[in-house]
Amino acid sequence: MRESLTTDLLIIGAGPGGYVAAIYAAKKGLSVTLVERRWIGGTCLNAGCIPTKSLIQSADLFEQFQNASRFGIETDHVSLDWQKILDQKTKVTDNLRQGIKTLLQNAKVSLLEGSASFNDDRSVLVTADDNEWLIHAKDVIIATGAKTKHLNIPGIQLPFVMDSERILSLPSLPKTLAIIGGGVIGMEFAFLFGRLGVKVSVLEFLPQILPTIDADVVQRLTMAAKRANITITTGARVMEIRETEEKQALITYGVGDGEKTVQADLVLEAVGRIADFSTLSIDKTGIELSRNGAISVDDHMRTNLAGFYAIGDCTNTLQLAHVASHQAVVAVDNILKKDHHMDYNFVPSVVFTAPEIATVGKNEKDLTNAKIAYQVKKIPYGSNGKALILNQPLGFVKLLREVESNRLVGATVYGADANALIATLTVALQNNLSTEDLKKTIFAHPTLSELIHEAAFSLDGEAIHTVD
Ligand code: NAD
Repeated sequence: MRESLTTDLLIIGAGPGGYVAAIYAAKKGLSVTLVERRWIGGTCLNAGCIPTKSLIQSADLFEQFQNASRFGIETDHVSLDWQKILDQKTKVTDNLRQGIKTLLQNAKVSLLEGSASFNDDRSVLVTADDNEWLIHAKDVIIATGAKTKHLNIPGIQLPFVMDSERILSLPSLPKTLAIIGGGVIGMEFAFLFGRLGVKVSVLEFLPQILPTIDADVVQRLTMAAKRANITITTGARVMEIRETEEKQALITYGVGDGEKTVQADLVLEAVGRIADFSTLSIDKTGIELSRNGAISVDDHMRTNLAGFYAIGDCTNTLQLAHVASHQAVVAVDNILKKDHHMDYNFVPSVVFTAPEIATVGKNEKDLTNAKIAYQVKKIPYGSNGKALILNQPLGFVKLLREVESNRLVGATVYGADANALIATLTVALQNNLSTEDLKKTIFAHPTLSELIHEAAFSLDGEAIHTVD
């Protein structure tokens, strides 16, 4: 049966972009229709940020129990139950998904669980198993996310080649895993599986894994990787994957002038993600796509077509859940005629390796490339009481200041709980705080946050617990 609907705002996709836009817009008084064809919470909640971090929490605990003796805790035998690790992950994602559904209901968002496709510039058809809705909206936000990019090489379709979604529900742990792509997804999975005892090989095309991170951090992470069962090969051009007689994957790759192979039970393909418009018929609108196939948006999240906005991984901006959620608020504010623009200068990001890497603002690579003179100070975790209590002496907090303006322009944390420390640094940078401001602030003792305090003193040549 086909029903016709009119709504103030139609949002397509219920990931961290779409569902946040829906709740925020409804609270601002708009009538909102949200369409989702697969899962509330999108990739982040169902096959990305949340499930991977739940698995990483299990790997952290496994490692902690293995090293508990140092803390006077004797454990006879520490073992893994992969199925229970997966069950815990599922409990967390189910819980959060239900939570979002309740939030949407409370905000009176009308949720249509079906597949949206454009009829033309002004109407969208939503199809579910036994229903169809033709929707006319004053404004539309497209928030359809991204999907795995696939390599065009022989063997990529073999059954043991997985993407980052399929690998989350493996029936059992493999003994060996090859990962194509040493970006964020590749390295997070490498540390996850490596720390659970899987022998991992990472093949990265570029000369450095995590190409956007400073080389000193990557050098330290590479040493940590060795201790975690991970072998990294950079400058590796993967050419083909074949199946051996033992039903394993044999990957051939070029390095320098030669060719090499690596054999593994499973292969993870993690070479990036591309905007996903499958079933949307976006070509029926006049919406402009950028060269990488994502929607071109301006800093108000507007597309080239009046009344059409786009947010999140389907746009030509940053593929981060928290950016999508922020863009959601910006888009809705602009629909409500408030002039709100996205500022990408101080977007924090965290790579959940072990140790974690967290960054905000510019790094040394960015400043060097832009020929901007800067001062840098790195405070080692080994100088901090709490880091030693945690037995986490590896890592540093790095703070960068532009010479000309004397402004703090960037920070990197490599070490335990980097994900928490980066929040303080983000607030400081976003609000243009100076080292004087940080020095005037009292940081609780004993905490890892004192590393930030020390970094501010150190930049001014007044380090107390370290050598300037
Ligand atoms: P990515 O772009 O971060 O990394 C892909 C890597 O694959 C790059 O280093 C690239 O050089 C390499 N590569 C490309 N082609 C290759 C080839 N043929 N052989 C070997 N290596 C090859 O992409 P991703 O890791 O797939 O992640 C996708 C997006 O999701 C990114 O924008 C990422 O930032 C985001 N993400 C963020 C988080 C987080 O913030 N914690 C976690 C997961 C994903």
